[in-house]
Amino acid sequence: MSSPEAILKEYWGFDSFRPLQKEIITQILHKKDVLALLPTGGGKSLCFQIPALLQPGICIVVSPLVALMEDQVKALQAKHIKAMALTGGIPFKEVDTMLDNCIYANYKFLYLSPERLQQELVQERIKQMQVNLIAVDEAHCISQWGHDFRPAYLNIALLRELKPEVNFVGLTATATLPVITDIAKQLELKELKVLQKSFSREHLAYMVREAEDKNYYLEQLLKEHQESGIVYVRTRKATIELEQYLLKKGIFATSFHGGLTKAEKSKRLDQWLKEEKRIMVATSAFGMGIDKPNVRSVVHMNLPESLESYFQEAGRAGRDGKPAKAVILTNKSDIPLLKNQFLATLPGVEMVRLVYRKLNTFFRIAYGEGESEDFYLNFYQFCQKYELNTLLAYNAMLLLDRASVLSFSEQFQKKTRIQFLASGKQIGFYLEANPQFDAVVKAVLRTYGGTFDAPVEINLQVISGKAGTTVQEATKLLQQLTKEGIADFEHDQHDTKITFLVPREDDVTINPLVPYIKLQEKTKTEKIRQVLAYVENDRVCKSEQLLQYFGEKNTSPCGICSVCQPLNTKLDREGMKKIYFAIVELLQEGAYSSREITEKLSFPEPHVIKVLQLLVEKDALTITTNKKYKLKHL
Ligand code: ADP
Ligand code: MG
Repeated sequence: MSSPEAILKEYWGFDSFRPLQKEIITQILHKKDVLALLPTGGGKSLCFQIPALLQPGICIVVSPLVALMEDQVKALQAKHIKAMALTGGIPFKEVDTMLDNCIYANYKFLYLSPERLQQELVQERIKQMQVNLIAVDEAHCISQWGHDFRPAYLNIALLRELKPEVNFVGLTATATLPVITDIAKQLELKELKVLQKSFSREHLAYMVREAEDKNYYLEQLLKEHQESGIVYVRTRKATIELEQYLLKKGIFATSFHGGLTKAEKSKRLDQWLKEEKRIMVATSAFGMGIDKPNVRSVVHMNLPESLESYFQEAGRAGRDGKPAKAVILTNKSDIPLLKNQFLATLPGVEMVRLVYRKLNTFFRIAYGEGESEDFYLNFYQFCQKYELNTLLAYNAMLLLDRASVLSFSEQFQKKTRIQFLASGKQIGFYLEANPQFDAVVKAVLRTYGGTFDAPVEINLQVISGKAGTTVQEATKLLQQLTKEGIADFEHDQHDTKITFLVPREDDVTINPLVPYIKLQEKTKTEKIRQVLAYVENDRVCKSEQLLQYFGEKNTSPCGICSVCQPLNTKLDREGMKKIYFAIVELLQEGAYSSREITEKLSFPEPHVIKVLQLLVEKDALTITTNKKYKLKHL
């Protein structure tokens, strides 16, 4: 029999295990139930993949996100290991064949969405499989105390009944005590081994910095060193704006958000990985599969939504173990913003009902139908059409996703479909009267069958080629036909894919979610309270605050965070005097904003701001309506 080390070398090409990997693998091979708590990037996947490869039979992996599953399956397949993912949106017949392959075709890994476990077919087949291990990835999703509770995760316990003799391994990067206890309880883990690596990151300096003008502060920060970094912002729009700002300031930046095409995403990721672009400005959609060791700074321009997500995002800095920093930029307007705006965008029960109803209307889904079907939409157009607040609608869809009503993913797709509404004869007459349509319509009819019966996907490139027009001309003509009622031509760019997991049953679908929606509101509010506490607490070392949040005891100050190392030097009286004179001299010229003042003087921004505040308090300066500072006596 091969050894874990041999498999690690043979399939992954690595020479040694990372901390705790070996221990976890050993316990799994001893048939123990294991709860493995390793930070993001700690290498959790190997911990269940290697034992599965060392034993006969198949390993069942439950994972919450389609994208996560697909990534892992692809990675395994690239190593010539037989693996498949059973996600939503696969037709029944295909599922049947796939499950057969698991039983008879020597598959080593079956990735499952927890929703799939509800299907009797899946349960029956699992009973027949020779399962060597059940792995629950992102196991915190089973706990309502976690930041990512998914009710369908509660189905996983079913696997216990189906396979009582098989041991479980739960893996997560969230290790707060209530969550750990909950995972153990819900998964019915027996004789449990909890293996936890400290989440402490010795060389990562956590900082919270006040910055009136965040863009300017960021610019200074990024100019300090010519090194790789990530900047997190909240919205797609903000990624583009900030990218532009940085480019203008001579900082090579690119941007990333969920609405980009797959090709565009990988292009930009690649440019950043190869350091053709130094800074990645991104929404939290930027995360999965990112494994760049030498990221020196991760900056948050807005307060994060939970310390769990913050810790993960911040943790992308300094993977190589060399000094790095994770900075939150904040100012007074953030706190009300987070409290009000963020809480105000938590969708209530009514909003969830509304969005669900509108989705059904939009896709013309009849009562009792829609299950397992894929639909595409342009999210902003959808919101505009029904006058929905985009953030609320987005969060409502996420909630429907978490609650397994549908599966929602951001995916860029072009959809071009046509169906003729008039009969062949009628079209013949129409073309005689309107010869300008002749070439295009005939091209469609000759290239695609069935266009009279149902919408058919067409390729405009092909059609325009055959018709001797440009794509734009063909598009225009086909749109014109739609207006005339001759055809139904859809030509949209989509950024959102929705797969309904249950048939449409209106309130019968939504009512059971009510307790979950309320619970989510409560947990989210609590998470935000914790973020605020972290940002505001200037007494306890930032690293210790985070570690204690994750349930670690016996922590000690890190010595490098913004609490342990307050801004360079304290501002003494002498220093203040110097800045005071410089400001007064400068303002003789006229009024300037705090940003302009900082740029013109060579003192640290926080010191300048402090002196400015003092001078305003002492009535030596006033602030004009356009936020410039002016000498009072002028
Ligand atoms: P996690 O699930 O804990 O976030 P992954 O399992 O996705 O982490 O692994 C993160 C990265 O670390 C992957 O690129 C993986 O190949 C790499 N990795 C894992 N174990 C080792 C090891 N022992 N030596 C080197 N690289 C490793
Ligand atoms: Mg993982």
